[in-house]
Amino acid sequence: MRFLTFIYLLFLSTFAIAQDTDRKIQFPDVDGYKTLKCDLHIHTVFSDGTVWPTIRVEEAIKDGLDAISLTEHLEYQPWSADIPHPDRNRSYIIAKEAAKAHDLMIIHGTEITRQLPPGHANALFIEDANKILKKEAIDAYTEAHNQGAFVFWNHPNWVNQEKDGLPQLSDFHKELIEKDYLHGIEVVNDLTYSEGALDIAQKNNLTVIGTSDIHGLIDWQYDIPEGGHRPVLLVFGEERSIESIREGLFAGRTIAWYYNILVGNEEVMNPLLDACLQFKSKGYFGNSTALEIEITNTSDARFMLFNESAFEFYEHNDLIEVQPHSSRIIRVLVDSVDSDSITLNFKVMNAVIGKKKNATIDVTFDR
Ligand SMILES: [Zn+2]
Ligand SMILES: [Zn+2]
Repeated sequence: MRFLTFIYLLFLSTFAIAQDTDRKIQFPDVDGYKTLKCDLHIHTVFSDGTVWPTIRVEEAIKDGLDAISLTEHLEYQPWSADIPHPDRNRSYIIAKEAAKAHDLMIIHGTEITRQLPPGHANALFIEDANKILKKEAIDAYTEAHNQGAFVFWNHPNWVNQEKDGLPQLSDFHKELIEKDYLHGIEVVNDLTYSEGALDIAQKNNLTVIGTSDIHGLIDWQYDIPEGGHRPVLLVFGEERSIESIREGLFAGRTIAWYYNILVGNEEVMNPLLDACLQFKSKGYFGNSTALEIEITNTSDARFMLFNESAFEFYEHNDLIEVQPHSSRIIRVLVDSVDSDSITLNFKVMNAVIGKKKNATIDVTFDR
């Protein structure tokens, strides 16, 4: 009986490891930078969300985040009859107090909420949200700019605003970019990804942003018990500080992590892929000339590598999956190669670096 219990427990623990039930979001640091996990678009009852700010702090700690920003709608306060809150900074103040005893950074932010154009935008690293509440949209952006804010365009693909879901850069946006009042754009918002927004980001040198825009509970919206995760922004900062996050955002050093997709610019993506994946030759398999390559993944992403070289694999077709926090071996048939080394070329199917464009990895091994 005891033995059976032991076997049962062993089975349970094996199952738990295989499921990667640790909800903390994990990506390794990259060369020269810390990988800071941020959610910079969040609501509470202080605008149209349904929870108190302390719950947002607890969710973020459970998710292993480094920083969050509670970005309440300045101009949209549907619960104000029940919860009067003339001070638009209250949500930030409560969250900051709640985070004090923890290792979570709270960034002061707000959502400037207008019809298109310019639509909705988040202003981060602000000093006083009350002062950004203005009659004219341009005055709100000017005030955010004067407070030194980093500003990004929210859900530009939102079908309530852009009926076709295809973001259009308006003359108003162009003016904001020209004035240096707009610095980023959401490519990922909640349950949506916008290739059009990524294209706008890359053509206008706007920082790629991904956020949850959570209103309800993170656990329910993103199926956390089933192994899901909230969308987050990986910001690459020189140190783990609010100032480094700010610098990283203005410098465009970001990758959005959404479902199993990483999204961002190639020069930011490549160091992240280098940090997440290691390739190692283990020599020939038995007496064969099949070269064993061990691929190790130290991140939460399930990597999908598509073999674009001419080499065949022993057991597999061209699509190789590498599960989160695990290693696997592929055996490359190299007998016909007449050189001292071989190079494998992979297209990373879950790493997007542009419109219809995926990241690539080339790895060379001695024979
Ligand atoms: Zn919005
Ligand atoms: Zn929002």
